[in-house]
Amino acid sequence: MKTMTCRQLGGPCDLAHHGESANDVIKAQDAHLKEMVAAGDQTHEAALADMKGRWKNPLAGMGWYRKAKRDFAALPEDG
Ligand SMILES: [Zn+2]
Repeated sequence: MKTMTCRQLGGPCDLAHHGESANDVIKAQDAHLKEMVAAGDQTHEAALADMKGRWKNPLAGMGWYRKAKRDFAALPEDG
């Protein structure tokens, strides 16, 4: 289990996501961004727009996704 924050995934806050794989924390971040924006938080709007743009533009999105996976792999395991 590893921890990656909203900020490490391109977001504006330090909320920590926990997961066994990069996919887990990316999914958690996606849900977190949607949740925050749905709740009226404006600081997460840009990050959510970026996230949506990545799914629409797989080539550009792939670079970000690979970097997130690399960053995740480099993290230490939780406790
Ligand atoms: Zn956040």
